[in-house]
Amino acid sequence: MQQLLQGTFGNPSSDHWAGQQARETVEKARCQVAALLGCQPEEIVFTSGGSESNNQALKGVFFAAGKDGVHIITSQVEHPAVINPCRFLERLGAEMTYLPVDGFGRIDPDEVRRAIKSRTTLISIMHANNEVGTIQPITDVARIAHEHEVLFHTDAAQSVGKISTRVDELGVGLLSVAGHKMYGPKGIGALYVKKRRQFQPMVIGGQQERGRRGGTENVPYIVGFGRAAELAIDNVRDENTRVRKMRDRLEDTILRSVPGTMRNGSKRERLPNTSNIGFTNVEAEAILLLLNQLDICASSGSACTTGSVQPSHVLTAMGLPPDLARSSVRFSLGKYNTDDEVDYILEHLPVVIRRLRGETEIPKRPQRTAQDRPT
Ligand SMILES: *Cc1c(COP(=O)(O)O)cnc(C)c1O
Repeated sequence: MQQLLQGTFGNPSSDHWAGQQARETVEKARCQVAALLGCQPEEIVFTSGGSESNNQALKGVFFAAGKDGVHIITSQVEHPAVINPCRFLERLGAEMTYLPVDGFGRIDPDEVRRAIKSRTTLISIMHANNEVGTIQPITDVARIAHEHEVLFHTDAAQSVGKISTRVDELGVGLLSVAGHKMYGPKGIGALYVKKRRQFQPMVIGGQQERGRRGGTENVPYIVGFGRAAELAIDNVRDENTRVRKMRDRLEDTILRSVPGTMRNGSKRERLPNTSNIGFTNVEAEAILLLLNQLDICASSGSACTTGSVQPSHVLTAMGLPPDLARSSVRFSLGKYNTDDEVDYILEHLPVVIRRLRGETEIPKRPQRTAQDRPT
């Protein structure tokens, strides 16, 4: 990336040697991303990230349908980058079905089957949830979509690089990837588009990305993303056992040692790095504030909904009462976390919770007598 930012300025669309050099680096990255997803390089469209990929998938289908109109099936626990484009398309006349989820955040494939109508054009169900980590039964939904000849999109921004996301195994027609969720740079991503799929580009311009996204490619970021994809292949196999162990130790110890706590989401059908825990009678925002003072970075909801006062739509859809949803904190671990850091959280978190529940006094400053005062 550094080399490309500092001295290799060719535009991949130029025919001279500098352009060709840039083109080669982009095509190498395309192969790296394709290898991670188990698809052909031509099936990868580079985008600015997960949000753009989701917007392209949903709006592309809508605008390709023309006056026949569309019916899209999705779920109530999707990321805002799916839910909000869906609401937007609804205002433009699309018919939407937002499927409910069970207490673990899973949709029921039979409900997908029941929701399909003759004008159903797209099913969009996320692979893994960003707030609770719950993994959806994607292959079952893919089978149903295939039987009814409906295009199937999955938002895999959260799962790529953490669990297997080979498109041939998942059986999807469209799949969204976000570079920064797999240690790539921010502001780059991809949309997998199965070959021979009808495709209406959203960014209309030149013939870049085989006419599927106009505009000069973000060469340095694409190259960084490609390298991250290459490294992620090993992560999916090895690193995540270590991350999973750390996550389980963190979660099990909190649930055991802090009273009034519960896990939100599925214990097993879940990403290896995510833990979402409810702390009764404490506001998540207060917990996060005190954790932040201890240099512990955790969150509630998704980064994209921070600042809103609404309780998480994911936890609410799972049946949590609003007060419990507002008391839930998400811990996300990664390959750069250590066991020492888990120990550090386990040392401080119980104290933070006791303090916020008013069970421990806030330590008073030692009283100073006149003699103690500095002169
Ligand atoms: C982060 C995320 C997105 C958005 O990706 P950006 O690259 O930030 O645009 C979409 N869906 C899910 C599930 C995510 O976790």
